[in-house]
Amino acid sequence: MHEIGIMEETLNLAIDYAMEEKATEITEITMAIGKMSGVVPSALQFAFDVIKHSSIEQNQSINVKNAQLKIELLPIICYCDSCQERFTPEEWIFQCPQCNLFSNKIIQGKEIKLISMQIENEK
Ligand SMILES: [Zn+2]
Repeated sequence: MHEIGIMEETLNLAIDYAMEEKATEITEITMAIGKMSGVVPSALQFAFDVIKHSSIEQNQSINVKNAQLKIELLPIICYCDSCQERFTPEEWIFQCPQCNLFSNKIIQGKEIKLISMQIENEK
């Protein structure tokens, strides 16, 4: 399950950021997941729940055990060279709805990224 690795990396990134901001707790992180990324959202959620509990010892300064994961699913968007327009393909056939040409330019759908997070600073 490669979601564990992805989640570890993302949570480490979030923790680094939280430390820079001198936060004490991460309460929420939001990830954007493209439909073509190969990531299964439920597996990612599961990985998150496992990692947030196991990483407490390693990162005593940032509390992540109450953090929530939000996942935004991004649809696939292709670009048609002949129409010079973006389109959202139906299913897995990347065919332009206007001119019927097949597109190999995928401009959205492969994302796996941290897009926002909420942190708490204890005073
Ligand atoms: Zn077209």
